[in-house]
Amino acid sequence: MNKRIKLIQGDITQMAVDAIVNAANSSLLGGGGVDGAIHRAGGKTILEECQLIRARQGGCKTGEAVITTAGNLPARYVIHTVGPVWNKGNAEEERLLSNAYENSLRLAVENNVRTIAFPNISTGIYHFPKNKAAAIAIQTVTTFLEKNESIKEVIFVCFDTENYELYKSLL
Ligand code: ADP
Repeated sequence: MNKRIKLIQGDITQMAVDAIVNAANSSLLGGGGVDGAIHRAGGKTILEECQLIRARQGGCKTGEAVITTAGNLPARYVIHTVGPVWNKGNAEEERLLSNAYENSLRLAVENNVRTIAFPNISTGIYHFPKNKAAAIAIQTVTTFLEKNESIKEVIFVCFDTENYELYKSLL
């Protein structure tokens, strides 16, 4: 395991890191799951910034990422990325999930982020199989860290025990 990768079970809204990643949807207007939790805890400025991004570029495509400040959260930024909806694996879901992690990390580097926390993107309402998603997340982050020195810590924040146990065994 890469020494810069950490694993915890918990609530990503409480993480005091440079950036937390949100599993958003392409509207950027908020939703359920971790998205709802981030907007509830972070307050309205996050949504206002998302609305500005929407006005400028019309939301966020699957696999891409945008950045806002983090409102009342202890983090400095929220990186909103859109994971794919699982559709039997026939719609390039694996590549798109990998893109969501990679584009979040790229945006983090551009914004001088040193510490970043990820939720288990697409494994809730979007129904991506958790074992496949964990393997893709770990692989993509590990490969990125091998070519990038500026990110000091990537924390996988698992909310549910099933994901936590999967990551623990894979890491
Ligand atoms: P998606 O639409 O990408 O599937 P969800 O928010 O439904 O997004 O689920 C993504 C993951 O986020 C799930 O594994 C879910 O358990 C987890 N999750 C939900 N709330 C939180 C939270 N407060 N902190 C971290 N992870 C969370």
